Amino acid sequence: MLSDIYHTHGYFCASHPWEIIIGSVTVTTCLLSVSLFTAGSRICGWNYVCENDKEEEGSDLMILTVTRCLAVMYLYLQFRNIRQLGSKYLLGISGSLMIISSFVLTAVIVKVFGGNISGLGEALPFFLLLVDLSKACALAQYALKSKTQEEVQTNIAEGISSIGPAITLDSICEVLVIGVGTLSDVKQLDSMCCYGCLSVVAHYLAFMVFYPACLSLIIQITRTRNNGRPLLQLQQLARVLEKEEEKKPNPVIQHIKMIMSAGLMIVHIHSRFITEEGEKSRFSSLLTTTEMLERDRQPEMPLVQFYLLRLLTHHIDYTFMFVLAVFLTVKYVFYDDHIEEELTRKLEEASQTRRRELSDSLRDGTSQTTESMDNIVQSQDETDFKQKNTVSFTQPTETIEFKFSIGDDSDSEEEDKSSDKGVQTENKMSHYKPLQRLPSLQPPRSMEQCLEILNSDGGPSLLTDEEIISLVKSRHIPAYKLEIMLNDFERGVVIRREMLLNTLKQSSVLDNLPYSDYAYEYVNGACCENVIGYMPVPVGVAGPLLLNGKLFHVPMATTEGCLVASTNRGCKALEQSGGVTSVVINDGMTRAPVVRFSSAKRASEVKKWLEDKDNQNKVKESFDTTSRFARLTSLHIVQAGKLLYIRFIAVTGDAMGMNMLSKGSEKALAMLSLEFADMEILSLSGNFCTDKKAAAVNWLEGRGKSVVCEAVIPAHIVEKLLKTTVQTLVDLNISKNLVGSAMAGSIGGYNAHAANIVTAIFIATGQDPAQNVTSSNCLTLMEATGENNSDLLISCTMPCLEVGTIGGGTVLPPQSACLEMLGVCGSCAENPGENAKLLASIICGTVLAGELSLMSALAAGHLVRSHLKHNRSTVNVLPNQSLPSSSDMSQSPHHSHTDSSHKLLGCTINAINSDHSISMSVDSNNAQTKSNPFLSPACDSRRKSCDTTKSGKSNENSNDVKLDKDCSNKKDKIS
Ligand code: ADP
Repeated sequence: MLSDIYHTHGYFCASHPWEIIIGSVTVTTCLLSVSLFTAGSRICGWNYVCENDKEEEGSDLMILTVTRCLAVMYLYLQFRNIRQLGSKYLLGISGSLMIISSFVLTAVIVKVFGGNISGLGEALPFFLLLVDLSKACALAQYALKSKTQEEVQTNIAEGISSIGPAITLDSICEVLVIGVGTLSDVKQLDSMCCYGCLSVVAHYLAFMVFYPACLSLIIQITRTRNNGRPLLQLQQLARVLEKEEEKKPNPVIQHIKMIMSAGLMIVHIHSRFITEEGEKSRFSSLLTTTEMLERDRQPEMPLVQFYLLRLLTHHIDYTFMFVLAVFLTVKYVFYDDHIEEELTRKLEEASQTRRRELSDSLRDGTSQTTESMDNIVQSQDETDFKQKNTVSFTQPTETIEFKFSIGDDSDSEEEDKSSDKGVQTENKMSHYKPLQRLPSLQPPRSMEQCLEILNSDGGPSLLTDEEIISLVKSRHIPAYKLEIMLNDFERGVVIRREMLLNTLKQSSVLDNLPYSDYAYEYVNGACCENVIGYMPVPVGVAGPLLLNGKLFHVPMATTEGCLVASTNRGCKALEQSGGVTSVVINDGMTRAPVVRFSSAKRASEVKKWLEDKDNQNKVKESFDTTSRFARLTSLHIVQAGKLLYIRFIAVTGDAMGMNMLSKGSEKALAMLSLEFADMEILSLSGNFCTDKKAAAVNWLEGRGKSVVCEAVIPAHIVEKLLKTTVQTLVDLNISKNLVGSAMAGSIGGYNAHAANIVTAIFIATGQDPAQNVTSSNCLTLMEATGENNSDLLISCTMPCLEVGTIGGGTVLPPQSACLEMLGVCGSCAENPGENAKLLASIICGTVLAGELSLMSALAAGHLVRSHLKHNRSTVNVLPNQSLPSSSDMSQSPHHSHTDSSHKLLGCTINAINSDHSISMSVDSNNAQTKSNPFLSPACDSRRKSCDTTKSGKSNENSNDVKLDKDCSNKKDKIS
């Protein structure tokens, strides 16, 4: 009840700051103008001789000077305390406002009672010594925890309701205690105590009314100046200090204070109203003296001059005080910066402790809290949470620990955002959102209760992790559906991890597999199932690669040391040589279902039917209906006995196209089934496609994009930069890449390490890494060229680059960032398909750079040296341990390049140019894209079509979407 009144009062003050401030200032000014500035105002020593105006004794002067200096020092310390909240000026200003306002208020009250305001000057040191800004700090802490202005008001109200009763009691106590002094018959003491009482009352009024309004206004102004950004640092510091320093008042002491106040009240009532009944109000008599009226005199100088003169000459103690105040102000403004450093350190320590706590509790699988289960559910309400967890200065005894608890997601998130996100282990753990980790110290509720909650409106989010795990175990929640049922991807992942850890019986086993802060919404239903985290892979950048006159910085995700550095060197050589030229010579993704007929003869009849141009057009018509982008370009049919393998070849826009081909082929087969009722469809994929397996058909016919890159490296660059000669390179290329691979019976492996570059770029850009099998097919050719055959002509021919810039893993934000880096993210709005072709060209160009560099290193015998330098972890290697010999190294998987050469020739590149027997028109103009101003056009369109694919909301492409989805489910089975 009492705290409700305080709360309402606090909320009113904080929500009407202007009204309160202007109102207070107006009232004060009016009251002052009534008495202070009237003609009858008397200023001690200026227009009358007062009692205090007489020369002070030497010893009195000393005491007064010391008291005043102490008061200034005390004030300085108070401001330092305020500064520990992380605010150099903000809170200082509001604290000063409070002191000034309470001083002015005291003056007003003195004047209202008809007292002598000049006496206040004497009382000033004592007044300052009574100032206690700790309560102001406490209220500020409440206010600074807020993120919105609305929260500022609520929090100030909460602070007032919490601090208000205590400060009221303290003020009453102080007034009564100091008031005892006014009962003495010592005139000076009486008057001092009287001023003391007034200043306590004024201080109280200022704190309760003026200060909350000022605080609210100042925070509002600061926030507006920061463009609405929350006072993050202050929030964090408020939290740290809250954790470390806040103590609640002891209820026993509060009790004693109340008893003491009651006793003192009796003393006062007895001495004022019973003993001295009928006397003139002692209070006002203390503030005025009749003697003064008798000593009026004419002022000798203007008031300002009087005060200045008095400050400089007459009152040496004021001068001391003034000098000290100036000194301390300078110190505060310019030399107290170490306070901030200390605070930053504390903040870091606190967040580290917090991270440790979080990761410990994650390991334990339980959260630490003592709240009852009822409270747990209740405390999801943010306000409730705050009431339970914010520190009160007035209530229970124990220091409230900064708890990892429900409803606390936002702050922790902000706190953690300030730390280094590059670290994937402990730090990543700290991004875990406590909101979803409901405490489980209480025994889990019964299965019936849990099921009831599960089926209620609140759903599983009201259950604790432990309860959800038991529901998963009892098969009420399918484990794979956790994310969807909880409607919280990260919590789903966390619970799955916990379940896994329980089976592993080793709590720390997944500590280094990060899981938080990941865009799981893109993963779910598209990229991965049963998710327990994500695998961070280092991404390096090679380049710039000068390709067709443009520069590209190529992202490569790899854990093989030397790879990026070597590719980079190749790029450098290429750039200095004028760059790479690339051509995309073919484009066609493939899918080849296998169908069976009753006999080989019947199969051959169907084959003939399919090779007829008109019939093919019928097939195309049916195929093309399945997508806006997939357009059938040809059919390649082979027969094996009574089996037919129909290889559908189609352009797929910017998508890699496997799903599209599957859909189209399925539709075409359905149409063929109508034509040939005896056709038995054995599988949508008959391995003649061929996906993710080494196959000559891909090498010969091509798959995806077929690209050739070429460059001429002048002799001087070969010699200076690559440290070898053209002739050595040409020789080595024949011996190794051509003869060596032929001897090995390789299919498409006529290169040094194309797979290295292909895979690294595939991982970085969200391609399907398993497709590196075919995509790495590459023929590297080198020959001497130019005048005197002194330069090197190098080319890489890659017939099967299966790449896309839309769909699959390209939708994931990090991967899409890498695509963006290359300028090929998403769908190419002007000409769908161009992005994917450019990506294929970039990959081929980078392969060429990698080939050039590695071949040069091999030729120059640099390989071993560079690997020793870059591809050896020095961790745990003892200083005196000798490095392995090169013969040792050649056995390591990373050092397999030092293979021997043989003399044999045998390879051909005309495979990729092979004519497709049937050529069909491609209509790619019907792609529709709308741009989003916040995203690059390419990414915008990628996201949109991805969203469409996910939500299935597009009318225009609903068929496409549905089939895309169906096929994506089947993808695994048919690849
Ligand atoms: P894939 O066929 O490579 O597996 P997906 O089927 O996962 O790729 O994603 C391709 C989706 O993107 C299709 O639904 C397609 O309609 C849509 N899309 C949007 N723009 C393009 C584009 N320029 N090229 C290809 N597909 C596009």
